Amino acid sequence: MSAVAKAPKASATAPPVADPLPDLLSRLRLTALRDRLDGLLDEAARRDLSMREALGLLCEAEVAHRDQRRVQMGTSIAKFPAVRTLEGFDFAAQPSVDPKLVRDLAACRWVADGDALLIQGPPGVGKSHLAIALGREAIRHGYSVLFVPAMALMAALVKGHAEGRLEERLAHYAKPKLLIVDELGYLPFEPAAAHLLFQLVSRRYERGSVLVTSNRTVGDWGAVLGDPVVATAILDRLLHHSHVLTIRGDSYRLREKRRSGLIKAAQAAAPAAVED
Ligand code: ADP
Ligand code: MG
Repeated sequence: MSAVAKAPKASATAPPVADPLPDLLSRLRLTALRDRLDGLLDEAARRDLSMREALGLLCEAEVAHRDQRRVQMGTSIAKFPAVRTLEGFDFAAQPSVDPKLVRDLAACRWVADGDALLIQGPPGVGKSHLAIALGREAIRHGYSVLFVPAMALMAALVKGHAEGRLEERLAHYAKPKLLIVDELGYLPFEPAAAHLLFQLVSRRYERGSVLVTSNRTVGDWGAVLGDPVVATAILDRLLHHSHVLTIRGDSYRLREKRRSGLIKAAQAAAPAAVED
């Protein structure tokens, strides 16, 4: 009864027309556009954009959001141990690093070509920092990246071998376009492990890039890998298409500590002579 009574009133004021756009955009999976639609349309009106320009604005918003999500996902898959960026690298503090070379590497042609990159130098000079920063650039350029400390990689391969699951492990580490192996050389490997590393390097050879950071020069790899013959075979493949970045000088951390100590001492003695 009450429904009948209300009927004339409902037809007098037209029911609000449901906006089909959010649903259509959902079905097209343009979710960023859907969520920001009102703001973007307001902006298009405010800027007096033509239909075509407005469509461009809307598409840009969706694409920017997708790029951002892709980088976020790629970064979480890469398992970087910390956030380190090229912008955060103080080139002035490390004159042995050529900023132009690093900028070239950041363009990631070497990753596209499947080349190797060795970053070598003493502890604390920024090898891991640059490796992570270049890994992030590779993700930005659309490549898959995996970061693994050398000892963890070797432990995983040895374990996989012992459990009869080496193939699975090799496939896992062969898959990303760029594999970053950090801190090779802090502990020597057992010879069996070196042979497993050789299998991985062979599998990736000319298909995916490897970035290795090490506190040892390639001349020491025989000792690091515990087997000079396998070391030569690994280096033969790694160095065939490779770039080498050698960092010299002091540990950045110690330098910073020393500098802050010096500044404090100088301030206490003579506030005007801080730059000493
Ligand atoms: P390595 O891997 O060569 O032992 P790291 O990359 O771990 O050294 O550097 C040690 C610390 O010092 C890190 O926190 C890193 O971000 C920082 N660091 C090293 N070099 C620089 C630099 N030139 N500019 C800014 N931070 C640096
Ligand atoms: Mg390191």
